[in-house]
Amino acid sequence: MAYAVTLVRGDGIGPEVAKATQTAIAATGVEIDWTVVDAGIDVMESYGTPLPDHVLESIRHTKVAIKGPITTPIGSGFRSVNVAIRKELDLYANLRPAKSIAGVRSAFTNVDLIIVRENTEDLYAGIEFETGTPEAQEALDFMAKLSGKSIRAGSAIGVKPISDFGSRRIVKFAFDYAKANGRRKVTAVHKANIMKFTDGLFLEVARDVAKDYPEIEFDDRIVDNMCMQLMQKPELYDVLVLPNLYGDIVSDLCAGMIGGLGVAPGANFGEEIAVFEAIHGSAPKYAGQNRVNPTALILSGVLMLKHLGELDAAQKLQTAVEKVIGDKTHVTYDLAPVGVTPVGTQEMAEAIAAQIKT
Ligand code: NAD
Repeated sequence: MAYAVTLVRGDGIGPEVAKATQTAIAATGVEIDWTVVDAGIDVMESYGTPLPDHVLESIRHTKVAIKGPITTPIGSGFRSVNVAIRKELDLYANLRPAKSIAGVRSAFTNVDLIIVRENTEDLYAGIEFETGTPEAQEALDFMAKLSGKSIRAGSAIGVKPISDFGSRRIVKFAFDYAKANGRRKVTAVHKANIMKFTDGLFLEVARDVAKDYPEIEFDDRIVDNMCMQLMQKPELYDVLVLPNLYGDIVSDLCAGMIGGLGVAPGANFGEEIAVFEAIHGSAPKYAGQNRVNPTALILSGVLMLKHLGELDAAQKLQTAVEKVIGDKTHVTYDLAPVGVTPVGTQEMAEAIAAQIKT
């Protein structure tokens, strides 16, 4: 029976990498019944919004989606469609594997890390007060009264909510992922030495959850030390679990360690719904040119096949991607060595598809 999957093509380079991903997944023989929908700046005129209701309805219905990148227009008043999708569907866990691929230029060779980022809380909760406004002044006065500490006059204010509920479900997600995927260790990353009540709560909950998984090693690191250690001895680490802001930063650091945006996959999970997406954006300057690297979304497709339980197909697709990149003859401009003519997005996907079938 075919799996029902929503494909959100996105805008910019989205439709190109989406088509390439369909080509590569089709070659695995796993049957997918695609519902193809569009979101982003290209649909704003027809629907009056970059995120039409039917896109969310389709994802709620199929429960599995793969998504191309979507532009966030600066200063237009439109919020990020990507953030809106995560919020609307309560996709609380952002999973970003960072695994070295031979043939991709990078200062590191044997990176194999899983980053689990909390997606709904922390400074991203969106409660901020603009400098000089009556609301900011009221917040400053209120906090001075509550805490007995004064904050510099004229400050802008941001709120950092971290809850037991949010921390527990993300740490549990990280341990469950580790257990299901044969990983050995989970590291909680925080700044609890300074933020004793917010990051302190995250760490306390992480220690508590860890007790339910005695077969998996647990430790914790302060975020600045974590960054240094990742540069010096990444092999000591395995699964990292982080609150939202540190997760955002550290996952990009790890993407850089494996060669950057073109090869870094991702996924967002809620209790029932999963949305798979590359971490790169819509790269508008390359849109419609059939030039960019489709690897990141294809590897997000590998994560999707695993989620669907199609482990053999996932492995075949992963191996084919690695072989094509390693061979260096059918790769896009960002991966092609000097002297090799790069191929286009779709041609690289077709080389991956052909590799699966050999
Ligand atoms: P970007 O990732 O779109 O592009 C930055 C540069 O990275 C590109 O110019 C290109 O040189 C390179 N690059 C990106 N993807 C590549 C690929 N697949 N192959 C080869 N090279 C690639 O980042 P940006 O320019 O900061 O953002 C553009 C738009 O995308 C913004 O509107 C931003 O908000 C949005 N965005 C969306 C998502 C998402 O949909 N999840 C994520 C990040 C950014």
